[in-house]
Amino acid sequence: MTDDISELTARHTYGTWRAQRGWKPLHVTKAEGCHFWDASGKRYLDFSSQLVCSNLGHQNQAVIDAICAQAKELAFIGPSYTCDIRAKAALKMLEVMPKGLDKFFFATSGTEANEAAIKIARLYTGKHKIIARYTSYHGSTAGSIAATGDLRRWFVEPTGKIPGVIFGPEANCYRCPLQQKQGTCGTACADYLAYMIDHEENVAAIIVEPIVGTNGVLVPPPDYLPKLAEHAKKRGVLLIADEVMTGWGRTGKWFAVEHWGVTPDILTTAKGVTNAAMPLGVVATSRAISDYFDDNYFAHGHTYEAHPLTLAPAVAAIDEYKRLNLIERSAKMGELLGQKLKALAEKHPSIGDVRGLGLFWAVELVKDRTTKEPFNTPQDKAQRKPLVIDAVAAEMTKRGVTVLAWVSHLVIAPPLIVTEEELDEGVAALDAALTIADEKIAA
Ligand code: PLP
Repeated sequence: MTDDISELTARHTYGTWRAQRGWKPLHVTKAEGCHFWDASGKRYLDFSSQLVCSNLGHQNQAVIDAICAQAKELAFIGPSYTCDIRAKAALKMLEVMPKGLDKFFFATSGTEANEAAIKIARLYTGKHKIIARYTSYHGSTAGSIAATGDLRRWFVEPTGKIPGVIFGPEANCYRCPLQQKQGTCGTACADYLAYMIDHEENVAAIIVEPIVGTNGVLVPPPDYLPKLAEHAKKRGVLLIADEVMTGWGRTGKWFAVEHWGVTPDILTTAKGVTNAAMPLGVVATSRAISDYFDDNYFAHGHTYEAHPLTLAPAVAAIDEYKRLNLIERSAKMGELLGQKLKALAEKHPSIGDVRGLGLFWAVELVKDRTTKEPFNTPQDKAQRKPLVIDAVAAEMTKRGVTVLAWVSHLVIAPPLIVTEEELDEGVAALDAALTIADEKIAA
């Protein structure tokens, strides 16, 4: 049975971000808490909450009950109408969103949320350029992929993306794009973005992941985001914070911008908002922006926007994050996870850097710690060469622990309900699998 399901899936549905040949998706039959099971009965520890989205753990009962109850009450009503859950969801968002963001557009993915944010920024400012950063991911459609700095954008050059997006450097203290040394750099990477605004015409917005996610869990220096927000404000440019991955307690706060006391003009989010049990994306906007659209055309919308079945689990999920104290728990357990990962670095010469915040960590592998030479480059990945990081992740999967692997690092982000025993289980699998990378150094 399991082979049939995998084979049928691969034959008739697309495996994404890959060539199709050789795709054999694991057939999952059950999931609960921090674990899921394949059709043979093998159990896996989900050490990345799938795509950093199942923050409450799998099959959270309150979320599932909310979906079922909403389906029975009112499964769908078109966007120009309203229903109880639409108003309730907006009020629930207000409880946790950074103060000042008080009007929402409900979409159905992180991609769509960013697509809408770019359009809103352009409509509001009357300007068209968007500044994004190279080491970033913002989604897969024409606008959001255009703002994506990483290799996934390369496949749609030059025709599959909107024009008007320009790229600047990210804050990456391990591999500074401006060749600066942390502590003495004056956060030149933030100043460089201001320099870009000053030398471009018509900049509507800067879009950033407050902590870069898939591309390496890059936590910026403490003054980076406040400085960037000030640079943008001074120049009449909007700051869009993409919290699709960093929202919902992942970094030890409801939203990562809270670490630095910054309120963006637009915040986008998705994933953990419903514990990924229903597809919801959220665009939260400032009062200035919502006031503007009182008398100007809000030129955006979808049939499925503000879909009742996506809003009911969002309300339930927010209540669950609160009831289980998961934001505080993420900060506390995250410190523990960080200590355990850093201890591995003492043992494994292939670990170049360990960094993170809350339950959001990256382990970056290198061939040589002194030169920081990586095993593989983004070009290797784009050209489908075998990657050392994929071999390490595959070994972990064999040992019953799944993580996200990207070019030369692993993203480790277990559900926020994770226990210390489960952290130990995941770290032990990583410890064993890292031998593969260590041996590549010796070879
Ligand atoms: N933005 C960030 C920071 C993401 O990590 C992702 C997905 O991983 C997206 C946007 C796109 O979200 P979605 O996959 O829900 O379209």
